[in-house]
Amino acid sequence: LTSWNFKQDKTVIDLGDGVKVGGDELTIMAGPCSVENKEQILETARIVKAAGAKILRGGAFKPRTSPYSFQGLGEEGLMLLAEARAETGLKVITELMDIAHIDVVCKYADIIQIGARNMQNYALLKEIGKLDKPVMLKRGMAATIKEWLLAAEYVMNEGNHNVILCERGVRTFGEETRNTMDLSSIPLVQQLSHLPVIADPSHGTGRWELVIPVARAAAAVGADGIMVEVHPHPKNALSDGPQSLKPANFRLLMDELDAITTSL
Ligand code: PEP
Ligand code: MN
Repeated sequence: LTSWNFKQDKTVIDLGDGVKVGGDELTIMAGPCSVENKEQILETARIVKAAGAKILRGGAFKPRTSPYSFQGLGEEGLMLLAEARAETGLKVITELMDIAHIDVVCKYADIIQIGARNMQNYALLKEIGKLDKPVMLKRGMAATIKEWLLAAEYVMNEGNHNVILCERGVRTFGEETRNTMDLSSIPLVQQLSHLPVIADPSHGTGRWELVIPVARAAAAVGADGIMVEVHPHPKNALSDGPQSLKPANFRLLMDELDAITTSL
């Protein structure tokens, strides 16, 4: 179902109000790793909207490596995302980790994110396949291209064909970066599949200084969009501060992406 043999035109996810993923434009999803409080998410939403982003990201249910780390605000975080959407008009993407939270996440999200750790949670993939809600499926920590596409097949096989793929780096022997961003997977998957492919240079590198150059590269290889973590005060972030862009750097990135996409 993911392949060009099944469908010959590129999949465009239409979120309404002119916001699309997979269309002619590079779609920007930006926001904090986690929704932390009302001020933080509203301030970030205003900043990314003004800079040209179309979709607000922010985790309310967080898959943290340590159980002692901030786990997210849960439904309260989702409500804050909805408030930010109401004020700015941004669409909202947020992670769903558990079948038990499908109803509550669907109530607030425009796109459901399935994180790297759940890419092969087949029970969860089957359940979201039954929904009428776009899904962004992040590449698993160590997933091959085939495994990633087969995970998308799990969703589509249940009827939900509104699937976006997101390259977020894979684990290698490298220690200097959090993951190794696999830029080649973007054109490769686009050659194999009609589904849109987004790049996440924030989790792909884990270092804010690398986010801008790798995002530029992702745009240049033809990504359908970029997801990037932005925080008004990265030093105080409750998660992923070291890979979060400050507002000024996000604006700089947006200008540079404009220059790349208009020259392509
Ligand atoms: C995220 O985008 O917030 C996230 C947890 O990413 P990943 O699943 O790629 O690690
Ligand atoms: Mn994060």
